[in-house]
Amino acid sequence: MVIIMRPDADAEVIEHVIGKVEELGFEPHPIYGVINTVIAVIGDRTQEAMDTLQSMPGVDRVVPILRPYKLAGREVKPEATVVNVADVAVGGEAITIIAGPCAVESREQYLTTGRYVKQAGAHILRGSIYKPRTSPHDFQGLHEEGIQLLAAAREELDMPIITEVLDPRHIERLDPVTDIFQIGARNMQNFALLAEVGQANKPVLVKRGMSATIDDLLKAVEYVLVGGNEQVILCERGIRTFETQTRNTLDISAVPIIKRFSHLPVIVDPSHASGEAWLVPALSKAALAAGADGLMIETHPSPQDALVDGPQSLRPEDFTELMQELKPFAQAAGRRL
Ligand code: PEP
Ligand code: MN
Repeated sequence: MVIIMRPDADAEVIEHVIGKVEELGFEPHPIYGVINTVIAVIGDRTQEAMDTLQSMPGVDRVVPILRPYKLAGREVKPEATVVNVADVAVGGEAITIIAGPCAVESREQYLTTGRYVKQAGAHILRGSIYKPRTSPHDFQGLHEEGIQLLAAAREELDMPIITEVLDPRHIERLDPVTDIFQIGARNMQNFALLAEVGQANKPVLVKRGMSATIDDLLKAVEYVLVGGNEQVILCERGIRTFETQTRNTLDISAVPIIKRFSHLPVIVDPSHASGEAWLVPALSKAALAAGADGLMIETHPSPQDALVDGPQSLRPEDFTELMQELKPFAQAAGRRL
């Protein structure tokens, strides 16, 4: 941080502030100007220390230099982080495609989906057994019954699995059958849950809350990072706006903005962003053009029968076609698919 002293602060007042900076455990570097004196402060700032210094006599203002994302920020780690989801590297040169149904509904539905997404070239299979539904009267997921289906798909297909964790009490149960924990949009600020997956020895995908700013998202993932878990992927999945044509509005600028501020990989979920299958190809291409490290796409063998999110789920043939169409976009973005 930098402390800018008032023009009328005399030597004694300035010395007093310098003394306080040292007392707080920082290293002061005063720069004596003609009008203002500025004190550059080296050390890991806290909000409390900034507030203390701000309230001292002679201080005009205290300006933070580093952004508040201490661990997620590029300032502390300029190089891009590559997250390894089992043997899939996310955030490197290759684009990562996560695909699968919104919810695991049955053995037949899940394994059928897994087979064709793998065949089409997807890298990670999604499918949730705990669903965060807006209404308690809607299908909530298979819960315990789905555990063995996640395990069966992983074994048969030899693909990493991603599934949503809604409750810290489910982490232990899901840990053996998933390769990455998904924190959904509705739980992006469930700090107890974030802290708990921060203790896990497994990657975490954090989806942006539908009413959360980019800043909120980056601060939220700090809760995972401070726990010691540095394997974090961020996901832009659309935000709420006044537009009613789509389920949410894909905030495409979030991709380059997050990439600029953070070293963590960023993927885009065009399915929840749009809510409609026909929009998914266009948004997927836009995401790759904007620099996304991957995509999370919902697909279902028979969208008209899906228990959750059918209208936004791609049919098998449409998913396969999209995978082919994405290749030149990945290449144009300097990536590989
Ligand atoms: C999902 O991925 O199925 C999901 C519930 O997404 P979101 O948390 O973004 O709404
Ligand atoms: Mn869904």
